[in-house]
Amino acid sequence: RTSDARLPAHLRTSIPTGKNFTRIKRDVRALGLATVCEEARCPNIGECWGGEKGTSTATIMLMGDTCTRGCRFCSVKTSRAPAPVDAHEPENVSEAISRWGLGYIVLTSVDRDDMSDGGSAHIASTISNIKLKAPDTLVEALVPDFQGNREHIEKVARSGLDVFAHNIETVERTTPDVRDRRAGYRQTLGVLKAAKDMVPSLLTKTSIMLGCGEEDAEVEQTLRDLREHNVDVVTLGQYMRPTKRHMKVHAYVSPEKFSHWETRAKELGFLYVASGPLVRSSYRAGEYFIENVLK
Ligand code: SF4
Ligand code: SF4
Repeated sequence: RTSDARLPAHLRTSIPTGKNFTRIKRDVRALGLATVCEEARCPNIGECWGGEKGTSTATIMLMGDTCTRGCRFCSVKTSRAPAPVDAHEPENVSEAISRWGLGYIVLTSVDRDDMSDGGSAHIASTISNIKLKAPDTLVEALVPDFQGNREHIEKVARSGLDVFAHNIETVERTTPDVRDRRAGYRQTLGVLKAAKDMVPSLLTKTSIMLGCGEEDAEVEQTLRDLREHNVDVVTLGQYMRPTKRHMKVHAYVSPEKFSHWETRAKELGFLYVASGPLVRSSYRAGEYFIENVLK
């Protein structure tokens, strides 16, 4: 592909292989699951799925492949009325996870503004099923904003998960250009704070994409806002345009700048920070969290 010719060397990765990798791939097909790793053609798939048993990670997508929102950076399909959720999904997902023996699993989901509870019961039930069948697997759930509904946030926050994640994605000024108009910067901060207030033992986590037209001072402000809302963990990664129909990349941020933000975020008191061009919100989450935060 011609566009890859301009891709800086630090963004190129190798083709994935390995036993774990093949096993996960097979089960994902057999059980009809969807993973962000594959759908988003994540460059880290070899490392995440192929990691040592006990620290490997995968990101499973719940509630279908079609979202009721349409963020400008995101390659997920959009519809006002996606297909109903699969009632067996909580069981199937927990079954697969108990087989894989992963150290860490990230559950993510499309936004389901069409469901009266935003899908919160479905997410919560998947988490409690996993904790029943694979009690040693740490669970992170990357959840929608539930339009700020406290009851729905609480259902998920109290489901037994270890890490409550919701992404802020970008700085306040660029939010309307980057995220769906129903998603708000302040709302995201509110959701993260609400979950932490409800269950203080939860780790809260968020992710910022750089290269969306933000200024340095705005990144600094976002990190400060997140700490003020008691967010524990932040990851920063490079925005990559999924197709030509998506928002363009405003800048390829240098590895040095990512290191700068890592240092800054640590100074501001985040418990854990991952910052680098290839970092995704779930990048090697298992390894990092097990070694650095949850031990
Ligand atoms: Fe999957 Fe996340 Fe790893 Fe990418 S970074 S392969 S989406 S777990
Ligand atoms: Fe993609 Fe999430 Fe936005 Fe839906 S809400 S379009 S899944 S980023």
